[in-house]
This record gives sequence, structure tokens and C-alpha cells, in this order.
Amino acid sequence: MPEYNVGILGATGAVGQKFIRLLQGHPWFKISVLGASSRSAGKPYSVAANWIESVEMPSEVRDVVVKDCDPMHFSEVDFVFSGLDSSVAGDVELAFATAGIPVISNAKNYRTDPSVPLLIPEVNPDHVKLIDTQTFTSDRSGWIVTNPNCVAVPLTTSLKPLHDQYGIKSVIVTSMQAISGAGYPGVPSLDILGNVIPHINGEESKIVEEPLKMLGALKNGELTHASFPVQATATRVPVINGHLLSVAVGLNDKPASEEDVIELYKSWESPIKDLDLPSAPDFPIYYHDNPFYPQPRLHADSEKGMRTSVGKMRKSNVLDISYVAMAHNTVRGAAGGAILNAELLVRKEYL
Ligand code: NAP
Repeated sequence: MPEYNVGILGATGAVGQKFIRLLQGHPWFKISVLGASSRSAGKPYSVAANWIESVEMPSEVRDVVVKDCDPMHFSEVDFVFSGLDSSVAGDVELAFATAGIPVISNAKNYRTDPSVPLLIPEVNPDHVKLIDTQTFTSDRSGWIVTNPNCVAVPLTTSLKPLHDQYGIKSVIVTSMQAISGAGYPGVPSLDILGNVIPHINGEESKIVEEPLKMLGALKNGELTHASFPVQATATRVPVINGHLLSVAVGLNDKPASEEDVIELYKSWESPIKDLDLPSAPDFPIYYHDNPFYPQPRLHADSEKGMRTSVGKMRKSNVLDISYVAMAHNTVRGAAGGAILNAELLVRKEYL
């Protein structure tokens, strides 16, 4: 397997730090260039970054001098991961794609672009073909792939088997989102300790729209979005890692019992299980029989944070079924999801 030189844009931020941590010892990807804002550029990474990961800063990056996010500093990389703030990600990622450097991004800016794959490898691996419709460079060397919002990940992953088996008529979801999703320093402690905040700016529209793109059908280079209505309420809770969702779903075909739906989850097979991707979990969806599970503190780190945990499946009196789902927001919902996307793109020979 060839080794890929990788750049990280936004390397000093919360998601950038998670990239650095998760890429330690990666069998295919080697960190080569670190980029951030002009506030950090020119400084050693250990000075520029306020390290918030719970392991020591890897010695490999301590003395690396941070660069401005200008493609000219990244000529040695095969592609970049982006954990850039969305206020700058649009322009910076465009500059990299136009310079012929593939971008695998966490930011929201290109998620709704019709030519940009919004990717969860276990849900819509075929959508990588949208890359062929991108025109950032005449030789198609530069392109952009995005990963979804951190609530859209467990929501869409848990909806996928239901969508394929029964057809989805409607969804109502309430998220209980961890504070690490707001970056650092994030939500003031006086606001969140012993409290629930019933709103997160800009979050609900992403939760409503992104699953419809990912569950859409790609035919002849054109993506038709799924068309069921989603109602979302996003809340912030005093949990450090792991977004928990309460989900109710209306279905077109009715399952005979809740056991049928549980069995569907337990027997579901990931479409990428034979690709042997280093970061892929054995159980992308894991169903918990214990009705007290999943819990963020107990299960967010399961399978290195890459699993979507599901539980508490019930028939619903209002819609058809109701359940809870949970995933690690900064791993599966951000850096880990982006690394798995890159691994899929290697196997599909885009990298
Ligand atoms: P963050 O901690 O605020 O980090 C932002 C990064 O962007 C820093 O490295 C910062 O560099 C860099 N940056 C800011 N302005 C810049 C500029 N003008 N030029 C170049 N770099 C600049 O944010 P985060 O929580 O890591 O989130 C990063 C992105 O991932 C956001 O788009 C966010 O929406 C998305 N995301 C986050 C999560 C999560 O759970 N946190 C989940 C999914 C997606 P300096 O340190 O030099 O300022």
C-alpha cells in the first residue's frame, strides 16, 4: 500500500487536533503539513495550538511550524483534511481544489453543492462518483468531498436500513448534543452546567436537509434527494462527548413487530465490509438490548468512536417506531468520519 502525505487545514482547532490524534500510527496516511490562520502561522505547533486532547501532544507535530492555509505551502501533499472554521472554509477549500489538491472537509460550506459528495461510507459509498462531475480543475485533479453534520451521522446511519427495507414517510428527531461539538472554549460553563439549552444556532436545518441528500439516489451523475419531511429540535446538554438522539419514524410499509426492526438492525450488513478500511468499525450500527443503553459516557468511545449505537426500539402510537441513537460527535461526526471517507476514496482509486 503506498503511503500518502496529508495536510491538515485548521490543524490547531478542536477537529484539527482530533485529526492529529487519530492519524497517529495510521497505516496509509502520514501528516506532512499543518495549516491554520495567520495568528498561528510561523509558530511551532506546540506554541500555536491550545492542546485539548486527553493524550499528550504527539512528538511528531510539536516542532512542526504551522503554515498559512495557502496551497503554495502544501505542494508536497497528496490531499488535505479540512477542520477549518466555516467563515473561511468556503474560500480556502475552493483555492485548494482549484490548485489541484483534493479536499476532504468537515465544514458545512460545500455540503449542499450538487456536485460534492456528502459521504458516510456505510450509507452512500456510490456517491463518490459525484466527484466526476466536479470542474474545479480541467484535469479533475482537485475536488472536494464533505462529511455530514455530527447529528446527521447517527441519524442517517440509523435511518438507512429503515429506508431500504420499509421506505420512510416522516421523521421527528430531538438531539441532546455534547459540548465538545461547539469547539473550544465553546459554551460558557455557567450556561451549560446543570442545564439544557434548547437551541443551537444553524443546527436544525442541517439535520433536516443532510439525511435527504445522503439517502438520495444517484443515476447518470444526477442525485435525486430523498423526499420525506424531517422535524428537528437541537439541544445542548452537559455531556462532554457523544450526541444522543431521540428519533420517531413514520414508515411506508409497516413492520409486523418491533422485534422485526431490531432484527433488521442486528442483521444489517455494511456495504463496505469487504473493503478492509483501517478505520471502519466492525459494527457501524450496534443495537443494544439493554433499554438503559446507549449512553454517551459508556458508549461514545465504542469501536474507537466510530460506531453508531442504537437502542430502545418501540412501536409508536404517533408515528410507527421510536428509538434512540448515539455517536461520538468529534470522531464519527467529524475527524474519524473524514479519515474513513479518505480510506474509501483510496479504495475507489480517487486518491
Ligand atoms: P475551532 O476549534 O474553532 O478551530 C477552527 C480552526 O480554523 C483553527 O485551526 C483556526 O486556526 C482555523 N482558522 C480560523 N480562521 C482561519 C483563517 N482565516 N484562515 C485559516 N485558518 C483559520 O473549530 P472546530 O470545532 O475544530 O470546528 C472546525 C470545523 O469543523 C467547523 O467548520 C465546524 O463546523 C466543523 N465541525 C465541528 C465539529 C465538532 O464536533 N467540533 C463536528 C463536525 C464539524 P487558529 O487556531 O490559527 O485560529
